[in-house]
Amino acid sequence: MRRLPVFFVLDCSESMVGEGLIKMEGGLQAVVRSLRANPHALETVYISVIAFAGLAKTIVPLVELFSFYPPKLPLGGGTSLGGALEALMGEIDASVQRATAERKGDWRPVVYLFTDGRPTDDPGPAIERWRARYADGATLIAVGIGRDVDFAVLKRLTDQVLLFDENEAGDFARLVDWVSASILAKSQPLGVALDARAEAVLDDQVLRLVKEPPPVRPDAACVTLVGRCQSTRRPYLIKYDRQHQEIATGELHVDVSLYRLAGCYPLEEAYFDWSDPRTGGLEVSTSELLGVPGCPHCGNATAFALCGCGRLMCVGGPGEATCPWCGRQANFTAGPSPEEGGFAVGRGLG
Ligand SMILES: [Zn+2]
Ligand SMILES: [Zn+2]
Repeated sequence: MRRLPVFFVLDCSESMVGEGLIKMEGGLQAVVRSLRANPHALETVYISVIAFAGLAKTIVPLVELFSFYPPKLPLGGGTSLGGALEALMGEIDASVQRATAERKGDWRPVVYLFTDGRPTDDPGPAIERWRARYADGATLIAVGIGRDVDFAVLKRLTDQVLLFDENEAGDFARLVDWVSASILAKSQPLGVALDARAEAVLDDQVLRLVKEPPPVRPDAACVTLVGRCQSTRRPYLIKYDRQHQEIATGELHVDVSLYRLAGCYPLEEAYFDWSDPRTGGLEVSTSELLGVPGCPHCGNATAFALCGCGRLMCVGGPGEATCPWCGRQANFTAGPSPEEGGFAVGRGLG
């Protein structure tokens, strides 16, 4: 039986924290569940999962559907698209059987690349290598989640670029159904009736083929900040989502971006392994950030206390505290309010 290798290349950058990652994990499980219900898919489909953030790595090597166990996805700072493609090409080299005179080899591998952002590395060389050596022998479908995606870079990679726009509850489930149907169609034997082998149909309310890449917005869709709990020393991630606001005073109309608190999420230490160490340079002023979260580990009132070392920690209120990053004692007073211009803090790569 010839195998159909299916690769999922999944963006696990900071912007996916919380709901995004949970959905991606659930989606992967749902795809596998529906494929397993089809006897032919069960025999032919093999699945591999590659995750990318600041680092890209295979987290599930190519394995038969039957023994696939949906992984817990990591989270990290950065979006190494170039790294992800390198990992993918390495995985294809290592596990896809090419046809020889004696054997037929695997079916053409299918790749589903999901991303919600813009590359933080230079994907150029990897894209060129993919185009030159792999593109003809594989099907690559790139799905951009939301409007903050660099579609132009995805178009350089493949003609099959899709925009997934989530407007209502149930849209993500429809995306998952489409992925399952698309794999099922490719896994059916040649003898099967044509309509069973037909390409899955896109519901263009949910998923659209991108012909002209829309321009990338200059301001990011979200801002993420990493802190550590003073009591437990464990890390957390604070996420703010972009919100446009028009300020009108008399003759003057100004469009400004403000970022509203989306949540504060506990992180694993592995976050730092999956993150790009280049964090300098990006700064955001607290005057653009609306809302202060509490600590998700110990419940301290604010997770937004800035130590002299430039890192964030949690504090219960004004007074002495030890910084879990640098170990120094710091004396906290109430910080400058946004009205006074805020204070600058280091910002993640997203
Ligand atoms: Zn805490
Ligand atoms: Zn410190």
